[in-house]
Amino acid sequence: MPTFVAMKWTFSSTHQANMANAVLRSDASAFASSDIRETLEARAQRGVKGWLHQAQGAQDHFARTLESGASPEARAHAGRKAGVELAGLLAKSKISRISLDAGDHNFDVAEGLALAAYRYTRLLSKKAKDAWTLEELEVVGLSDAEAKRLHVLITAVSEARDLINTPVLDLTAEDLANRAVELGKTHGFKVTVLNQAKIESLKMGGLLGVNKGSLDPATFSILEYAPANAVNSAPYVLVGKGVVYDTGGLSLKPSNFMDTMKCDMSGAAAVIGTLCAVAGQGLPVHVIGLIPATDNRPGGNAITPGDVITISDGTTVEVLNTDAEGRLILADALHYAKKYKPQLVIDLATLTGAAARAIGPNATVAMGNASREVWDKLQASAASTHERLVEFPFWDEYNDLLKSEIADLKNIGGAEAGAITAGKFLEHFTDYPYVHLDIAGPAFLDSPWGYYGKGGTGVGVRLLTNFLSQVSS
Ligand SMILES: [Zn+2]
Repeated sequence: MPTFVAMKWTFSSTHQANMANAVLRSDASAFASSDIRETLEARAQRGVKGWLHQAQGAQDHFARTLESGASPEARAHAGRKAGVELAGLLAKSKISRISLDAGDHNFDVAEGLALAAYRYTRLLSKKAKDAWTLEELEVVGLSDAEAKRLHVLITAVSEARDLINTPVLDLTAEDLANRAVELGKTHGFKVTVLNQAKIESLKMGGLLGVNKGSLDPATFSILEYAPANAVNSAPYVLVGKGVVYDTGGLSLKPSNFMDTMKCDMSGAAAVIGTLCAVAGQGLPVHVIGLIPATDNRPGGNAITPGDVITISDGTTVEVLNTDAEGRLILADALHYAKKYKPQLVIDLATLTGAAARAIGPNATVAMGNASREVWDKLQASAASTHERLVEFPFWDEYNDLLKSEIADLKNIGGAEAGAITAGKFLEHFTDYPYVHLDIAGPAFLDSPWGYYGKGGTGVGVRLLTNFLSQVSS
């Protein structure tokens, strides 16, 4: 597996003379050039915001003002949006190297620019590859610590997006596990991969059941970052759904619902990306990532609607729809998490169409039984990163919808409250404070949204890195 993150970052105290440059200030009066100052002021009077693009000889200059914003969160979001807008202009003019000086907004503008400039180019032929990529981003005046934090964060998000965008032909469950091992070596966390035989010996009936229709073996990856200076004795455990391709199994999806299903491992990608960021930034926090992975196919002895499987904790599950497979593999992982006596477990999964239908790509559907204190911290991180969370109810009445005549549970709850019954199913396998994040809406985009173009977004990486930074500071 190649590494796909191509952009070169440089950080300096002054602009390089031979590069296009972009300068952003809170107020037009802060620009030294009277020409730029007056042009920006005249545009502002006409209500025109956005970047001013001037080509002086062979060099392109971009200038823009940005008001301070009502809150730190609004200010950060506006900064990132200005970066996204700049990426659009650079792409249009095919400018591949840019020197950015956004003063106090440096981190946010550079973050938005880098997120929006992401391209998955590995499978393009040479000619198409030449279309446009941002090859070099120089940020002027960012402190060394902030520069490192930003670089690590964007790299981690890009790694997650690369994994999501890679088709299953190049990303089987074993490839996903191998890539986690490689990234662990690069970023400084430990990865142990349980193979099919080990998964069988642990009687992970959910993961094995979903894997029955596949030619490729399942994997179960355990990622661990345990720095000596960790502030927590009980670890945070992150669980990511790693369905590397979801055909629906025998409950086969219609073709038009299947064509983006390489993204069904976005939860796993978010966990791997978060470990990259947390370890890369050296946060003093003990974190474990668990990734059950397989494809979901209708071949061979694929489980049938009506089969009953036994999860590793002994719970029997009547499988009434083989397309509700994510919860089956997550059940084994959530049970496995108990042995760590974690202080909190958060799972991320592209779990239900119901979550995507409820709120679209605008936010993640969240639910769980963790304390209000945990939720407040998560919501603070959600606001800071603009990876927003909408809390759904988690009442026990929903458990009634999961009762089976012949087994302990059934794997679908019916037409109503589908995102919540999936969450309640998962809760059955927990004995610790628990948060479930259904990222089915924002994980993979059919059209550009927010800071992202089409394809995998890596949603969850920025949110959880912020959260783990908050709880470890
Ligand atoms: Zn499915």
